[in-house]
Amino acid sequence: MLKRLSQSFREMRTIKRGHPQFKKCKKHKGMTFQGEQIKLKKVSDIQKHHRNHPMYKIRLNGHWYRFALHREIRGEIKQVQVHRDALGDMYITLTEDYSEVIPEPKTGKAEGFDMGIKDFLIGSDGYRYIAPMFYKQNAKALAKGQKAHSHKVKGSHNQERSRKSIARIHKKTANQRTDHHWKLAIALCRKFDILFFEDLNLEGMKRLWGKQVSDLAFGEFYQKLKWQAKKRIRSVLKVDKWSPTTKCCSVCEDKSETLTLADRYWTCSSCRTDLDRDQNAAINILKEGVASFGLGVVRPIILDNEIIGCSVEASNPLLNSTSASV
Ligand SMILES: [Zn+2]
Repeated sequence: MLKRLSQSFREMRTIKRGHPQFKKCKKHKGMTFQGEQIKLKKVSDIQKHHRNHPMYKIRLNGHWYRFALHREIRGEIKQVQVHRDALGDMYITLTEDYSEVIPEPKTGKAEGFDMGIKDFLIGSDGYRYIAPMFYKQNAKALAKGQKAHSHKVKGSHNQERSRKSIARIHKKTANQRTDHHWKLAIALCRKFDILFFEDLNLEGMKRLWGKQVSDLAFGEFYQKLKWQAKKRIRSVLKVDKWSPTTKCCSVCEDKSETLTLADRYWTCSSCRTDLDRDQNAAINILKEGVASFGLGVVRPIILDNEIIGCSVEASNPLLNSTSASV
């Protein structure tokens, strides 16, 4: 607490923030403790009602708190964060100096990804990873709850109860999204060795598509993917922001300047290939990525004027050469 207070005073002097205000106990979202400040003791090997996690108790600020430990502690505890969410549920996060590594078997595959609205990710092999719009799914329930909340008497128990029910919907949405992100990140790390992404331009995307971008939370997903890649010894790489990916034909590298956002499919004017906008962009990202990191050459395979996959000519042992991958 004192550390945070001194930080606020420092910011007041240096970046001209306002004077730190008094905060009620209820307003505090959480606290941070250093590893040496806390004590940890095992209570029992099993939770009540025979659930799997062992029970521990922790001494914070002179009080003992009981909790179920979900993961084994392997390193030394460096920091303990206590967090209280809008529902009043408390979470204890223990940070240890140990990084888990679970290497996945080598697949020798690289993949480029384009991000979209209708499909969350589009791979250069043409696979579409759909995105459930969780905010949109829960929007109706949320609107209903918010309307009910507006009719409640201020400061009443009923108002507090309806506030909690709204918070519960928000929490559910966030939990669903995080779950989907983790699962997708792990699945991608199992499938590919090297993953190429375009540099995110979230501000520009928000201007184009609005609220839906926040619902997808690309930035959060990217962070999780990077974390999983580190754990599973995979590479997540960004290609140059300024390389043209959407407007460029992936077969003959001809640029189509007239392409608009509404064109989902287009035909290249010089080589007459029918292109899927998103897959074309993903292939371009893969091509650019593989070339700029000196891994080899990627060529799209065309059958009946349509791209059916890519062939990879690898010049680096990290990648496997393939004649066709569909
Ligand atoms: Zn072309």
